Amino acid sequence: MVDAPDEIPLPPEPDDDHGWEPPPEEHPVGDLAPAPAAVASSDPHEVLRRVFGYDAFRGDQQAIVEHVTGGGDALVLMPTGGGKSLCYQVPALARSGTGVVISPLIALMQDQVDALRALGVRAGFLNSTQDADERRLTEQEFLAGELDLLYLAPERLRVESCVRLLERGRVALFAIDEAHCVAQWGHDFRPDYLLLSELPKRWPDVPRVALTATATDATRTEIAQRLELTGARHFVASFDRPNIQYRIVPKGEERKRLLEFLRTEHPGDAGIVYCLSRKSVEQTAEFLSAQGVRALPYHARLDAAVRRENQARFLREDGLVMVATIAFGMGIDKPDVRFVAHLDLPKSIEGYYQETGRAGRDGEPSTAWLAYGLPDVVQQRKMIDDSEGDAAHKRRLAAHLDAMLALCETTECRRAQLLRYFGQDLGTERCGNCDTCLTPASSWDGTVAAQKVLSAVWRLKNERRQSFGAVHLIDILLGKRTPKVEQFSHDELSVFGIGSDLSEPQWRGVIRQLVARRLLAVSGAYSSLEFTDASPAVMRGEQPLTLRTEPERTARAARSRSRGGSGAKTAVELSAAAAPVFERLRAWRATAAKEQGVPAYVIFHDATLREIASRSPADRAALGTISGIGEGKLTRYGDQVLEVVHGGDT
Ligand code: ADP
Ligand code: ZN
Repeated sequence: MVDAPDEIPLPPEPDDDHGWEPPPEEHPVGDLAPAPAAVASSDPHEVLRRVFGYDAFRGDQQAIVEHVTGGGDALVLMPTGGGKSLCYQVPALARSGTGVVISPLIALMQDQVDALRALGVRAGFLNSTQDADERRLTEQEFLAGELDLLYLAPERLRVESCVRLLERGRVALFAIDEAHCVAQWGHDFRPDYLLLSELPKRWPDVPRVALTATATDATRTEIAQRLELTGARHFVASFDRPNIQYRIVPKGEERKRLLEFLRTEHPGDAGIVYCLSRKSVEQTAEFLSAQGVRALPYHARLDAAVRRENQARFLREDGLVMVATIAFGMGIDKPDVRFVAHLDLPKSIEGYYQETGRAGRDGEPSTAWLAYGLPDVVQQRKMIDDSEGDAAHKRRLAAHLDAMLALCETTECRRAQLLRYFGQDLGTERCGNCDTCLTPASSWDGTVAAQKVLSAVWRLKNERRQSFGAVHLIDILLGKRTPKVEQFSHDELSVFGIGSDLSEPQWRGVIRQLVARRLLAVSGAYSSLEFTDASPAVMRGEQPLTLRTEPERTARAARSRSRGGSGAKTAVELSAAAAPVFERLRAWRATAAKEQGVPAYVIFHDATLREIASRSPADRAALGTISGIGEGKLTRYGDQVLEVVHGGDT
């Protein structure tokens, strides 16, 4: 039992990893062909079809695009993968002038621009990573009206010459990406975002669209206020991500269980494994690598060059696993991340949802897997106690944690509970694609069990002036004569051995749930269990208690590729004839991506390649009707793709 705690482990050293830090970046100039001529059209549908190769807008996209194209301000809340980019890219192309995109993700600007250029869109960026010549070139293009989109880091707006540059050119709109960075309580706060409230003063007639995947009403209000977007129309999309399967498994040997999960369900897939501390990141990455999984570490203390290299490899190579602290991930728009695993409990549902949302942007089946147990509850509560900040701040952190714990302990549909947290309704009681729906969790009357635990804590305190952690307490309940029991003659307590009706994991589950519900507190260096104000009522049996049944260690939720309920997405299975074509196309894409120095998905998504393989288009006209192939890509890649498809035919 590698991971069975001897005593509840101490929280890790506080890590300063909990904010995103932009790695200083040096970018090679993208190797894509020079930007072709403008794709001017004032009709958003025409732009969507011709440039992006899509037939229809999704969800709120059309309303947003029409509103912004018409000059209106908008605040857009959409989950990761919901399709936020088109909400400003299409209006930028449909309006005259350049769409200016404010983004904190300097390290990813080159990729974003490359992806647009691959579509034939004239895009550029200005940030601190460029040399003077590169910057001048982009500035000239902007002034000459030769840019459709210009990406800017927010700190550029502090530079007066940059503001004057924007004033001399023609701005079609301002898009404020990752708009929650303006919210001061979030861990993504960027002071430079506060500068953005100046935009409407200088450019009163230029529409602004702020976008975020952070969903709570409080954040939304704060964004609207701080960005002076009070007159903006709000668009709040459904936050459901039906293609993500949510699963929460019990902790204990979690690295081994993670490995089993990867081997059985995601062999060769790209994914992210989140850990709380950098030490755990390094150990987990080493463990996975030793077991033959291609895994890379990422945390804020890694050398900047290594971090950059690992991020670039994750984006460009197929099937890598990134083991990371939450320093990794914002703005990573790799569409084919097939799983996000958490080895430690996230601090809030917002964080959990943002992190898991990085899976399956392409809409294909993906898994969110979280290992959760008593050590998490203890650790997180302690981190809050030890954190700096006033009582109100701690209360806020505690409320966030409580909501996260309630999600872990629920016997109801995880998705329904997640959406309810964001003020949304799933529309059905059970989604059919989370662990509690697939293997219904049961509950039991835990009143007596809770009374036994609380009595043991109470007797130790009152008869012995002692308090102990969970492991020893369980030994007492089970009547185990351990050296510690003998040392303190705890076998003489009246509660010794009163718990032989339950197993050790079951007792751990009872204690975990008591701590999660604040019916027990943990304190001190040894994580001793103590009474809270709410404990006496339960101990006296005045308050009945329903507890979640501990799942069997071996039980694994069935992989549900097809699900009933609310609109599951399933990967199209390829026919015997199409499968080898798909593989040929993937190989061609890998070579092309390498030659051009761009991630493979910038060329074509898997879904597009799959459709090409199964429809086997005869000519360019037929190829152009496939979703994800606009004019730019048809011109650039059409002949090559047709040759790969039909190469074996003649
Ligand atoms: P977000 O920024 O909200 O996370 P993206 O803008 O990256 O999401 O879009 C997610 C994926 O969905 C992208 O691969 C994008 O090409 C695709 N997508 C967005 N809108 C549409 C649409 N109307 N039709 C087809 N695919 C779309
Ligand atoms: Zn469900």
